[in-house]
Amino acid sequence: MPSIATPDGNHAEVLWRNGELVPWQEATTHVRSVGHASVSAVFEGVRAYWAPRDQQLFVFRLTEHLDRLVESARLARLHMNWTTPELAEAVLTVLRANSYRADTYIRPWTFVAGVVSELITSADAPTETVIDTWPSPPAPTEVTGARVATSSWRRISDQQMSPRIKAFANYHQARIAAAEARQAGYDLPLFLNERGHVSEGSGACIALMRRGCMVTPPLSAGVLDSITRDTMLTLAAEHLGMRTVERDIDRAELAVADEAFFLGTGWELLPITEVDGLLVGSGKPGPVGTELAQAYRRVVRGEMADYSYWLTPVR
Ligand code: PMP
Repeated sequence: MPSIATPDGNHAEVLWRNGELVPWQEATTHVRSVGHASVSAVFEGVRAYWAPRDQQLFVFRLTEHLDRLVESARLARLHMNWTTPELAEAVLTVLRANSYRADTYIRPWTFVAGVVSELITSADAPTETVIDTWPSPPAPTEVTGARVATSSWRRISDQQMSPRIKAFANYHQARIAAAEARQAGYDLPLFLNERGHVSEGSGACIALMRRGCMVTPPLSAGVLDSITRDTMLTLAAEHLGMRTVERDIDRAELAVADEAFFLGTGWELLPITEVDGLLVGSGKPGPVGTELAQAYRRVVRGEMADYSYWLTPVR
């Protein structure tokens, strides 16, 4: 068998595949499955954080992520063999089997099984569900902020291909837009939706601060139903006592915002310091984003008891 490597050699000992723990090296699929298994596939991105004080690994908002996986499969008309509680148990099983004592990324996904000839697979086609994990440090605490360009592409809409479905295929657009932004000398793209309002980034939702209020586009703006967005709205209101509102945002409003940031499991909170060549606020990460990011970092490691209901202990 050819050797299978990740770019950084960073991978689990075992992964979970259809109810069994499988050595990572042996979890293979025939090469002819590559195309259709990506087209007919939905996934999740979850993080677990190591808490040295408690000697504990906490999975952050596991149920919400797995509910979203089940919803994505339903909307994508992919057969799902597992319930959220079963998947949650599977995540804990695979994390324990790998004995992680470090921050870990968790990637569950469901795809049409086997070597399939037809590209358009039916709703009753058998599927596989796999849960892979790998050590992954959290987002950096010292950030200069992202320089962002409005994409020339409009975010896919619910009229065409729902951005609510976390499907690998939906990231084709994010990839093209990210390459376009980089070619123009920016760090990341920002999508407007089909109505011309601000939608989201290539892998995160967006929020801004204006006159003491945190503003984020509604879920009907062509965005993923982001768990980090929900977390930050909750922390802004409850922990910082701040007004929050979900409403349409125009592109120009970003340039007059006091702060803006991307919100997502991967980046946690990434300040946006420039949009299309105009500075956002001072052009540096702002105080509210900094405070929210700090609160988030404490919450995910079990250091804020009020929010321990978001954590699932592994050990
Ligand atoms: N939008 C897109 C397109 C994403 O890929 C992500 C990352 N999963 C998000 C938003 C943020 O979602 P979450 O906070 O649940 O990670």
